[in-house]
Order: sequence, then structure tokens, then C-alpha cells
Amino acid sequence: MMFAGVLYYLWLTFFQRDAGVLRYLLVAVVLVVLAALFFVGLGFFGIVLSIVSSRNITFLNKPINFTVSLLYPVVLWLGKVFKIAQDKIQCSFVEVNNQLVKAKKGKLTPDRLLVLLPHCLQERECPNRITTNPDNCSRCGKCSVGALLALGEHYGVHMRIATGGTLAREAVKTLKPRAIVAVACERDLTSGILDCIPLPVLGVTNERPNGPCFNTQVKPKEVEKAILFFIKGGDSHLVCT
Ligand code: SF4
Repeated sequence: MMFAGVLYYLWLTFFQRDAGVLRYLLVAVVLVVLAALFFVGLGFFGIVLSIVSSRNITFLNKPINFTVSLLYPVVLWLGKVFKIAQDKIQCSFVEVNNQLVKAKKGKLTPDRLLVLLPHCLQERECPNRITTNPDNCSRCGKCSVGALLALGEHYGVHMRIATGGTLAREAVKTLKPRAIVAVACERDLTSGILDCIPLPVLGVTNERPNGPCFNTQVKPKEVEKAILFFIKGGDSHLVCT
């Protein structure tokens, strides 16, 4: 409605007197904005259709990706205006993203899948430097890292433990995966998913019983389900109990 109001004002301004080249400029701007709105509309349509039908609408993937990355900051801003907690919005974003990824059927070989784990899963007192080399974990069972690494070995997928976005981006750049399973908090998952578009990322939210970034937890079964989605196209044959 705001856009329509501005349009009406400009129309009156430029078309009621001889505005020369400005008139054409206005028409060009209006056409560009209308094209962008049409593209965003298509993206919305694609998101709803993919989620409702659980199918990947291939020809709408570009508008979907465009809409997701363009509208997220707008939704965050609206959330601030209407006092909606950011993590609620981020949680919804991750959920919508996961539904869109799950609509994309197809199997990957394990070596094309990257599992990214956050460093905060490691027990704070553990002296082993697992970010430089995950093999340094002695799998003592005090945190979930050992079980997750065993899972990675079992399925033959790449697994990296990152202290932040830079290390995660480096791993993506080096390994060039076709898909990612990422464990993190809603905020990091959201920024990671947006960074990786158009790469499919299944997000698994970690639990934070001790507060943010401190001895966080994740159920290996949830990570295993996400791995199986990509390499077997389902969640059967779980090895975790
Ligand atoms: S499982 Fe690995 S990372 Fe966790 S406390 Fe034990 S040795 Fe450290």
C-alpha cells in the first residue's frame, strides 16, 4: 500500500506537467520494482507450494532463494517493530528452510556431505584441541563430540568442528560439499544457511541447558536423521539409540 501511495504521488508529480526525461525514468523505476515484486511473489508461491506438496519445484528455485535471502532482514526488522523475539523468528526461518530442503529428494554419496559441528559442544574442561584435528578427541563420553565423530566415521561423511563462521566457510570452500548438515544455535544456523544459498543446509538446533556457547548438547540421533536424509533419502537404519 505504501508502494502504491508513492507511485500515485510520483505519477501525479511527473505526469501533470512536462517532466521530460524524468517521466521515462519513473516508468523504468516502476517497471524494475514491479519485476522485483513479481519475482518475490513467485518465490513466496514456490515456498508455500514446496512445503505443502513436499516437492522441489525446480523452476522456482531461483525466486525461492532470492525471496528467502531478501526477506529475512525485512522479517527481522518487522519482528523488532512488533516486538517478536529474534530467536523465534530465527527458529521459524530454520524450520522453513529445513522443510524446503526436505522437499528436495535425491541421494548423495557420503563424501559429498559435510557435517559442521560447533565448538561449544565440547566439554569446557576437555584439554584436547579438536578444532584443528577431530582425531584428538579420545571419545571419553563426557560430551557428544565423541559419539558424533563415530557417526561421521560410520557413514563416511566429512565432519568438521568449527569455532565460528570463518572456519565453517573455509571447510565449505575446501571440501566443496553438495549439501551440509549444520548443528548450531538458531542465530548461527540462520546466518550459515543464508551464507550457503543455494547449497542445501539441514539445520539441527543445539540444546543450551548451561546458557549460550557453553557445554551445549545435541542428540546424535537428530544428526544421524539429517545425514540419512541426504545419503539414503530417509531416516531408516538408525544406528544410535
Ligand atoms: S568426548 Fe572428546 S571432546 Fe568430548 S570431553 Fe571427551 S575427549 Fe573431549
